[in-house]
Amino acid sequence: MMKEFKVSPAASSAVPVTFSDACTGCNICAQVCQCDVLLPDTRKGKHPIVMWPGECWYCGACVMSCPVQAIRLEHPLMNRARFIKAFR
Ligand code: SF4
Ligand code: SF4
Repeated sequence: MMKEFKVSPAASSAVPVTFSDACTGCNICAQVCQCDVLLPDTRKGKHPIVMWPGECWYCGACVMSCPVQAIRLEHPLMNRARFIKAFR
């Protein structure tokens, strides 16, 4: 007997990647993601679903693989820190 799964996108505040209208739904980004963050949408031409946002390593492979630059990676605040030289 086959099981049925329901899939819904994660809450926007936790989503590490977003897609622009330029996305063709080719799913290359989902294929290259080593962490299975992205799940191909079963509807043709739709961008992948961000299935496991907490698993993202922010490696950028999905962004680099996109042929039309339609995917954007949003680094968490802690990754944006810059260390500056301390003066005494
Ligand atoms: S940044 Fe890396 S881990 Fe995160 S979704 Fe893209 S390919 Fe997957
Ligand atoms: S690789 Fe680019 S065009 Fe293809 S599904 Fe991902 S974001 Fe869309």
